[in-house]
Amino acid sequence: MPVLILKPGREKSLKRHHPWIFSGAIAKVEGQLKLGDSVALQSADGVFLGVAAYSPDSQIRARVWDWTPRDIDAAFFAERIRHAAALRQAAADEGVRLIHGESDGLPGVVADRYADSVVLQLLSAGAERWRGAIADALAALPGIARVIERSDADVRELEGLPSQSGLLRGEAAAGPLTVREHGLEFAVDAEQGHKTGFYLDQRDNRGLLRGLAKGKAVLDCFCYSGGFALNALAGGATSVTAIDSSGPALAAAQANAARNRLSGAEWLEADVFQSLRKFRDAGRKFDLIVLDPPKFAPTAAHAEKAARAYKDINLLAFKLLNTGGRLMTYSCSGGVSPDLFQKIIAGAALDAGVDARIEHWLHASADHPVVMNFPEGEYLKGLVLQVQA
Ligand code: SAH
Repeated sequence: MPVLILKPGREKSLKRHHPWIFSGAIAKVEGQLKLGDSVALQSADGVFLGVAAYSPDSQIRARVWDWTPRDIDAAFFAERIRHAAALRQAAADEGVRLIHGESDGLPGVVADRYADSVVLQLLSAGAERWRGAIADALAALPGIARVIERSDADVRELEGLPSQSGLLRGEAAAGPLTVREHGLEFAVDAEQGHKTGFYLDQRDNRGLLRGLAKGKAVLDCFCYSGGFALNALAGGATSVTAIDSSGPALAAAQANAARNRLSGAEWLEADVFQSLRKFRDAGRKFDLIVLDPPKFAPTAAHAEKAARAYKDINLLAFKLLNTGGRLMTYSCSGGVSPDLFQKIIAGAALDAGVDARIEHWLHASADHPVVMNFPEGEYLKGLVLQVQA
C-alpha cells in the first residue's frame, strides 16, 4: 500500500482520532495514488497512524477509514454498513439515517433509508472509489428493495467529482417514496428533492414543535415539504402560515398536507427575509415561529456574512411574537458553532427589545450521531426561546 508521510508534529490530531488530513500537513507520498485509493498514514518518525482514502484534488487530502493496519475492501464496507444499520432503530415504514459519514467510520458516505428504499450520497473520493461495494452492502440489508444515488451535492466539486444520480441497485419504485414520522406520512422526492429528499435530522425537533402548537398561531419559515407545518396542524395549532421560496417544495408541502387530511394552512411562495418585513409592517403577530433556513455558512470562512443573515431573520421574528410566544430557531451551518449561534440570537433579542429565555438546546436526531473527536460532525443546532412580558 502506498504511504503518506506527515510533517513533524502533524500527527497530533490523528492520534486523537480526528479523521482528516489536510494538504498542508503532508511531507510526501510514496507510491502511485489514484482518486480514492487507500494509503497508509505515517508520522515523520515512521509510526503507523491509520489507513485513509486519498483525495488528490481536495484540501482535505485524506480521510481515515481505520486506525489499524487492514485491507480496505468490499468486506470492510459490508461489515461497517451492517454495523451502522444495526445501531439504528426504526420501524419498517419510517425514515432513518443509516450512515452518517465520519460518525459511522465511513467518511463521505451518507445513506438515508425511507421505508424499503435507501438514498445514497457519495461525497468524497474514497466513497466514490468504493461505490459498487457500498451499494452492494446497502442492498443486502434486510428489508431493502432498492438503492438510489443522489451524489449531486456541491462538496463533490471540491473533491474533483462530477454529479451522479440514479438507481444503483434493485428496481425503480412504482410510486413516490413515502415515509412515516410521528404518525404523519410524507412523500419523499428522492430524485429532485433537497439532499436525499427529506430532512430526517429534524425529526425529534418536529415532534417537539407538535407538543408546543396547541391553540397557537404558528409561522413556519423555510418550510420545504411541510415537516414543521404539518406537525403544527396535527398538534392543534389555530392557524399555520408556511413560507418557502421554492415552488416545488411548496407543492410537495401542500400534497403532504392533503395526504394527511390536514387542511387550513396558508402556504406562501415567497422570500422569508421579505415576508418577515411585510408581516412586521402589517403588524401581524404569531405565538410560535420556526426558522429553519438553509446553510448560510458552509464553512467558518462564511461565518460573518451568515451571522448577519441569522441575526436579521431572528430579530424580525422576535418582533412578530406575542408576549409569551416562542421562537424555534436553527442553524445547519457547519461554520457556525453552537456558542456563536447562541450569541447571534442573544444579539437579535437585544436589538428587538425583547427578553427571551432559552427553554431547549436542540440538535439533530440520534441517528445523526457526532463522534467525540470530530466536532465538525455537529452541524445542526437550534434553540427554543420564550419571549417574556
Ligand atoms: N424545515 C424543513 C427544511 C428546511 S430546508 C423541514 O423540516 O423539512 C430550507 C428551505 O429553505 C428549502 O426548502 C429552501 O427552498 C428554502 N429557502 C431557501 N432560501 C429561502 C428564502 N430566502 N426564502 C424562503 N425560503 C428559502
